[in-house]
Amino acid sequence: MTISTNDWTEPGAWPVAPGVHRIPLPLPMDGLRAVNVYVVETDDGLVLIDGGWAIPESRSQFESSMKSLGHSLTDIRRFLVTHLHRDHYTQAYVVGKEVGAPVSLGIGDKPSMDLMHDANLHRDPNLDRLELAGALELADGWRSFTPAKKPPMDNYGMPDEWLDRDLVIDLGSRRLDAVATPGHTQGHYVFADTAGGLLFAGDHVLPTITPSIGFEPKWVEQPLRDFYTSLAKVRAMPDLMLLPAHGAVTASSHARVDELVAHHDTRLEQSRLAVESGARTAWDVAGELPWTRHNRKREDLGPFDAVLAAFETLAHLELLALQGKIARKLVDGAASFTTTD
Ligand SMILES: [Zn+2]
Repeated sequence: MTISTNDWTEPGAWPVAPGVHRIPLPLPMDGLRAVNVYVVETDDGLVLIDGGWAIPESRSQFESSMKSLGHSLTDIRRFLVTHLHRDHYTQAYVVGKEVGAPVSLGIGDKPSMDLMHDANLHRDPNLDRLELAGALELADGWRSFTPAKKPPMDNYGMPDEWLDRDLVIDLGSRRLDAVATPGHTQGHYVFADTAGGLLFAGDHVLPTITPSIGFEPKWVEQPLRDFYTSLAKVRAMPDLMLLPAHGAVTASSHARVDELVAHHDTRLEQSRLAVESGARTAWDVAGELPWTRHNRKREDLGPFDAVLAAFETLAHLELLALQGKIARKLVDGAASFTTTD
């Protein structure tokens, strides 16, 4: 028997609704602390939403948490993975192969998966994106996160099934609406159990942090536009309990979507004002904006967060340019933004 806890990362299998448990699994990087895997009981066995990052600590915690529910990994019938990021996908892939449980992933993530498996790819596409953001000074710091030689992809193979468009997944007594929600990545899906009042939200809607936008190997032109569209899509669904991939379960998907929309509206306006006062590249503009919940300066961000900040700001500026609120041109490989008048 488990009782609720204030620390959502505490190991265990925590009940969230009849037949649904949340299993937090550890991550090797300290930023996000943990990822939630959701175990859904169906007539046909266990269906899992996400699988965690394939590292030994996560594997053993996965096994012991399943055991506390009276299950083993061999009881898993299927993995529905919200998106291709390694903290969600890799362990689903490894365990899925071992126990014969098929893994599903959104087809919007296929171009990025193809790129990751491209043996002829020798330049990290993120370096091109840093150049476009006017942030090539971050390239050395970025390289420290990415091995010079491509790592083996043996825990990152292709899924068994690509999810395409919105569809209903019939699990006998339970029905999941698989809803395509591009933005965080192009292939992101959320899974809604409307009858049960549950939204398995992946990284599309997170309770305490704002999801990164378009951080994926394949370049996306307007990830923020896509994210807004996907937020509106979830807002048009019934208000559901929010079951996020990172963070505690909260009561209202609508309330958090509204906060995320307000956040990006504010950032758009701040970015526009920064361009108005003379900032030109995404990296310049990032220097004018506050970062993280703690309102940090751009200079105080670690090398990984600095890269995310550059990409995030670029996404805001590209959307403002698309909306005709600022002008955009290329200057020495960097996107340069100015006022329209
Ligand atoms: Zn994640």
